Amino acid sequence: MFPVSRRLSQTTPLLLRALARPASSAPPRLQPGGGSTSEELFSLEHKYGACIYKPVPVILERGEGVFVWDVEGHQYYDFLSACSSLNHGHRHPRILSALHAQTAKLTQTSRAFHNSLLGLYEEHICRLFGYDKVLPTNTGTEGGETACKLARSWAYKVKGVPKYRAKIVFAHGNFWGRTMAAFSSSSDVSSTEDFGPYMPGFELIPYNDIPALEKALQDPHTAAFMVEPIQGDGGVVVPDPGYLGKIRHLCNKYNVLWIADEVQTGLGRTGRRLAVDHENVRPDILILGKSLSGGVYPVSAVLCDDHIASCVRVGQYGSTFGGSPVACRVAMAALQVMEEEKLAENAAVMGQLLHNGLSKLPKDVVREVRGRGLLQGLVIRETKDWDAWKVCLRLRDNGLLAKNTSHGSVIRLAPPLVITEHQMQECVDIIQRTIMSF
Ligand code: PLP
Repeated sequence: MFPVSRRLSQTTPLLLRALARPASSAPPRLQPGGGSTSEELFSLEHKYGACIYKPVPVILERGEGVFVWDVEGHQYYDFLSACSSLNHGHRHPRILSALHAQTAKLTQTSRAFHNSLLGLYEEHICRLFGYDKVLPTNTGTEGGETACKLARSWAYKVKGVPKYRAKIVFAHGNFWGRTMAAFSSSSDVSSTEDFGPYMPGFELIPYNDIPALEKALQDPHTAAFMVEPIQGDGGVVVPDPGYLGKIRHLCNKYNVLWIADEVQTGLGRTGRRLAVDHENVRPDILILGKSLSGGVYPVSAVLCDDHIASCVRVGQYGSTFGGSPVACRVAMAALQVMEEEKLAENAAVMGQLLHNGLSKLPKDVVREVRGRGLLQGLVIRETKDWDAWKVCLRLRDNGLLAKNTSHGSVIRLAPPLVITEHQMQECVDIIQRTIMSF
C-alpha cells in the first residue's frame, strides 16, 4: 500500500563502512526539511551513526495525534507511541502550548538556583500520586539508578544493613535501560555480555514467582525488590492476578522496599493511572518517565516518602536538566491532560476493543495475545516463512507501525491513548488483514 524503496536500508553497515570516505570539512549535503528521500537519510544514518538499534525501515518526519508521516508523505498509525512516551499522542496542543510558553520565558536554570516552576511541579506530582517527595530526573534509566541509590542508602541508615552489604532483587526479563547498573541487573546476556565487571549487590529471581521472592526477601541484607508491574520490553508479560498485592505483603513482612518501575506501564497506559492501581497497592518507591512530558522533552521522576527521601543529602543526587523550568511546565501540562482527558479510562475501553479483535486472529500465526489496556503483546508463532519482524514490515506496508520487543517473537502494540473507536476499528482491520496474509 505504501511502497518505499528500501534498498539502502538493507545494505550492511560493514559494507557502508568500507565505502566511507575520509572525514571532510564540507558542510552536510542534506538540510533538515530539505526534501531528502528515505534512501538518502537511511544511508546517512548507516554511514555516521553507530549501529545500536534495528529500527523498522521508515523515516518519520511529522506526527499528529495517532498518526505519523514519513518523508515521502505516507501516513501510518503509530502503534508504538515511542515505547509509550507518547500516551497523549503526537504534539498534543496543550503540552506544546506549555512548552512554547515556557521556552519564551526561561528554559533552564540548573539546580544551582531555584526556579519559579519547580516547587509548583513538585507539589503537583506528589499530590497526584500521594507521596511526600519527588526527585526530578530526566530518563527512565536515571530514575531506576536513583531508586537503587535511595534503597541502598535507606538500607544502611534505616534498616541497619551492614555497610556495602545491601542487596537489591530484580526479576528475570526486566528492562530498565543500558547503564552499568541496569545491565548488572539484567538477565539479557546477549546484550550485556561484553560489559563486565558488573555491579555487585544485585540478585535475579524469576518474574511472577512469589515463593522465590519470599526466599530472596528473607535475607536480612535485602534492601529492595525492583519490578515492572507488567514487563514491557521483556515481551509484555502480565503476572498472575494478585502478584502485586503479594509483593506488597512480603515487602512489609520482611521490611524491604518495593520499587515499582512504572516508566512504561504508568500514566494511563494499562487502563489505570498506574498499573499498580489494578490491585490497589502502593509501592514504596515509584519510578515514572516516558509520557511524563507527553513525549516532548526527557522527564522522569522518582517518588517516595520522607523516611526514604531523607536518607540522601546535598551532593548525593543531582542533574543539570532535572527539574528545569521546561521539564516542570511540560510535565504539569502532561499530567493535567492525562487526568482531564481521561486517558486511562480511554485506554481501558480501547484496550478491550483491541484485545477482542486480536483474540480472533488465527492461532497458526498468533500464538497468544496478552496485555492490559493499551499495552498488548502479539506473540507470533514463528516459522521458516515468517517471524515477528516480517509481520512488522508488512504492518508498515499496510499503514501501521509496530515493533517486536527485544524478546523477538512478541510484537508490542501500544498506540497513543487518545485513539478513537473508529481509528481502533480501522487498526484492528489492518492487523487482521496483515496476519491473514501470512
Ligand atoms: N524502565 C522501563 C520499564 C522501560 O521500559 C524503560 C525503557 O524502555 C526504561 C526504564 C528506561 O527508560 P529510558 O529509555 O527513558 O532511560
